Amino acid sequence: MSHFLKKPVPKEKVAQDLGEVRARVEAIIADVRERGDAAVREYSERFDGWSPESFRLTAERIEEIVAGVPRQVIEDIEFVQAQVRGFAQRQRDSLQDFEAETLPGVHLGQKHIPVAAAGAYVPGGRYPLTASAHMTIVTAKVAGVPRVVACTPPIRGEVPAATVAAMHLAGADEIHLLGGVQAVAAMAVGTASVGRVDLIAGPGNAYVAEAKRQLFGEVGIDLFAGPTEILIIADETADPFTVAVDLLSQAEHGPDSPAILVTTSADLARAAIDHVERLLPGMPTRDLAGPAWRDHGEVVVVDAIDEAFAVADSYAAEHVQVLTAEPRRALDAMRDYGALFLGEGTCVSYGDKVIGTNHVLPTRGAARYTGGLWVGKYLKTVTYQEVTDPATSAWLGEVCGRASRVELFEGHARSGDVRAARFGGTEPAW
Ligand code: NAD
Repeated sequence: MSHFLKKPVPKEKVAQDLGEVRARVEAIIADVRERGDAAVREYSERFDGWSPESFRLTAERIEEIVAGVPRQVIEDIEFVQAQVRGFAQRQRDSLQDFEAETLPGVHLGQKHIPVAAAGAYVPGGRYPLTASAHMTIVTAKVAGVPRVVACTPPIRGEVPAATVAAMHLAGADEIHLLGGVQAVAAMAVGTASVGRVDLIAGPGNAYVAEAKRQLFGEVGIDLFAGPTEILIIADETADPFTVAVDLLSQAEHGPDSPAILVTTSADLARAAIDHVERLLPGMPTRDLAGPAWRDHGEVVVVDAIDEAFAVADSYAAEHVQVLTAEPRRALDAMRDYGALFLGEGTCVSYGDKVIGTNHVLPTRGAARYTGGLWVGKYLKTVTYQEVTDPATSAWLGEVCGRASRVELFEGHARSGDVRAARFGGTEPAW
């Protein structure tokens, strides 16, 4: 049996906020579709106070910006990109093309083809999310995408220099200082200045995530990667101070970021809550982390560790951190999460910033049906076939004729009949 020590915001309130976001996003997309660059410029001005002569950075401007970024920052970007590239390359290597002879002379094959153009959305409304450039652009390039268009908003009217450097070092082919729904819509439908892409990847706030959701179909998307969530599973062996620090590390993403603790220990829960309340006022990001904890913080106490895993699965949270005596048990016990962080030696911030797994991860329950961004999201898994043995083609033609007529598909059946006739000497009855 589980019980709440701290309850979340009512679900109706969340639904109402979502409804408002949906309506606003729909209107912006319709306007960008109708008026192209003019609408993009207006929304950039309205939401970001940003209307430069051109949103796209020239090669000279990029060089200038990168040259102004401190050496240590560049070295750290290069280190992290090497980690992300290494992991993505292993993912690419795990995807094998193959061709098999499944019947005499029947050759069936599978190939992975990168999309021709991908849009990389790198968030930047509240923080310059430099690390998202590694996650989206490096991964696209490892997949072999020839054209990567990267968009990020200015940060409070300033050029996010480290993010531009990360985009450039990651191999972006175009960099646009443009954010929000207007950037996503421009990449999806194409405007005079932003050429249309085939797939858009990257995280973002509720508006950005909703824009990708609404445009899906017209453009491919990686997944629903909205406001960040953390869920910590802890037992009595966990350090409550570390639990509190780690909960707040994700709550600071924004006022709509859930931070959830599921624990077998009521004592640990109370101690962690006390630490959170004590730490919050001193946090420079308290204006975001405070409302997130107040409205979306939850603390659930359960009787046993297996119940903790089951409760955690029911949230299908983006990040699940396991601070228990045997953290690896979660690997077998859990099904629904974006990424697992096992034991005290790591944390969600490592995943976000340095370690090499991708930080673009499913939110709001999407972990029930998808994992996070990976090299495979930029690849189309396609198949092909060839039949080189005439006798087999004739035989398949007869089966095809019968199978198609069961479905009343005379046209399909005749394609089979023709081959049965050509390669097997049987005359069609029609
Ligand atoms: P952002 O780039 O996602 O959004 C900024 C843009 O939002 C602005 O450019 C503006 O155009 C638009 N905007 C702001 N207010 C608006 C309004 N009222 N109406 C319409 N458009 C509006 O940056 P952010 O806001 O800092 O959010 C980043 C988000 O990314 C956070 O919520 C964070 O949790 C999330 N995130 C998710 C993951 C993941 O994998 N799920 C990873 C990292 C970050």
